[in-house]
Order: sequence, then C-alpha cells, then structure tokens
Amino acid sequence: MNLIIGSHVSFTKESQLLGSVKETISYGANTFMFYTGAPQNTKRDNIDPLVTKEAHEVMKQNNIDIKNVVVHAPYIINLANSLKPASYNFSISFLKQEIKRCEQLGIQKIIIHPGNHVGVGVDKGIQNIIDALNLIIEKDQSVYICLETMSGKGSECGSSFNELKKIIDGVEYNDKLLICLDTCHMHDAGYDMSNFEDVIKEFDKVIGLDKLGCIHINDSKNVRGSKKDRHTNIGFGYIGFDNFIKIIYHPLLTRIPKILETPYITKEEDDKKTFPPYKWEIKMIKDKKFNKDLIDHIRKP
Ligand code: FE
Ligand code: FE
Ligand code: ZN
Repeated sequence: MNLIIGSHVSFTKESQLLGSVKETISYGANTFMFYTGAPQNTKRDNIDPLVTKEAHEVMKQNNIDIKNVVVHAPYIINLANSLKPASYNFSISFLKQEIKRCEQLGIQKIIIHPGNHVGVGVDKGIQNIIDALNLIIEKDQSVYICLETMSGKGSECGSSFNELKKIIDGVEYNDKLLICLDTCHMHDAGYDMSNFEDVIKEFDKVIGLDKLGCIHINDSKNVRGSKKDRHTNIGFGYIGFDNFIKIIYHPLLTRIPKILETPYITKEEDDKKTFPPYKWEIKMIKDKKFNKDLIDHIRKP
C-alpha cells in the first residue's frame, strides 16, 4: 500500500525547498511540512526560483508528490481576535503573502490554526476568523487553506468539528478550505482516538471526508480531554502505538498526507543537543511495530 508519510522539516534561507526535500529523503519519508521561516516570527526571505526548480526535480526523482507537501503558517498570526486592529490586519496581510509564497513554491496546501479569541468568546472569535478568511481567500487561488483541529487550550477556536464547520459555512469561497486533523489536539480536546471509526464517522457527518486535507500524527503527553497540547513521540503517550497504526492505515485516509510533529529527542548526557526522531518513527510506522529501542538508540547510541 502506498503510505504518504513525512514530518516537519526545516526550511532555511540558503537551501530553501531543496534543503527541506533532502532532509525528507534522509528520514525515508515521501512528503513533508515546513514553515517558510521561523514558526514563531514573520520574518521571511525571498523565494529563490532556481532552488525551487531544483527541489522539484529532486522530488520527482524520489517519488515525492508536491501535492502532498504542506506549509504551516507561523503560529503567532491570529485571525480570531480583532480588538487590536493592527495585529488582526497584519495577520490577514501576512497570510495573503504566505499564500503567494506557497504559489511560488508550487505548494497547494497551507495549514493555519484558526485562532485564539482572547476573551471575546468563541462565537465572536469564529466570526472574526470568517471575516478574515473572506478578505484573504481569492476566488481563483491555487492554494487550499487547511484549518487545523485545536486542543482547546486557552481561548483556541476550532477544537470541535462543529466549530470548524461554522467557519467553513461562513466563508464565501469555502471550496478553498480544507481541514487538518491533529491527533494530539483531538485527543486533548476530548475525542477518543482509540475509537477512530466513530471519530471519522462523526467527521464525515459534520464536515465531510472530502474536506480532509492533512493529518498531523502526534502522541499526547496528557490524558484525553486535558486541553494541554503537549506532543510526544509515537507510542510514548496516551494515544498509544496500536491506535496510530489504525489511524495511519485507515482505508478511508489512504490519499491523505500524514505528518509527524513529534518532539526532538535529547541525549541523556547532554540535554541541550536534540535529534529528530522522524527516521525512527517512520520506520516503526512502516514496520507497524513499536520499538522503544529505536528512540533509545538516538538517546544512547
Ligand atoms: Fe499546527
Ligand atoms: Fe499540528
Ligand atoms: Zn500541537
């Protein structure tokens, strides 16, 4: 079966998309997700068309379909609160630029966190998100915006399928909207990931499977419903490895890119150095076999 699996990778000023592709290949992955700059700020460099072209060639040679590659918008942009017009308007114009950058890179999906209402309430927050998206989305843009399911931490909007559905229904060009499920966030928001059949049935009923654009594969450090949003490595948290295999290999989700956003591993003797776990986690997923030693291998080689 053709599994579409990858992870978050870096995107640097120098190597840009080519660096991201090479990192992806080193993990044995066939898709990836990246931020077009630092996730916590909005400083962005120009896209180099020559590097982009070379990256596309390397992707072709390695059977990485650009349609499965996703960008994640920086998490400081917030479309749900308009009390500070300057930052609300900045978020809107920044997202517009991100969509342009995706178009330059040939990327078709950008993931955003719907936003934090910061006290104005979920309903007003959702209305702010709708208003923003109606200003952002252009009728003929080639990029889909994927709204991510959130854990419900703080004042996050979009921690239930119903809230996400409200956003979709309010947006004029909502054919450009898709959903990114995040397993850790769903578990933390209260969804029972050990009963994924029912979860995906509910998703189909409320939003529709045709609206699914991406899945973030993360285990959770906390119990179901905790609203904490703390990711951990696959099989090391409260969702558990066997549930991930059921989700990742679910027959209805074959065409959906699955992206790991699990934390880097620290070495026992030096906890300042961290190492990406993705090569090992992807191997466990391909083997369908949990192997705690794979992570230990990074910790104590
Ligand atoms: Fe996210
Ligand atoms: Fe996520
Ligand atoms: Zn998260």
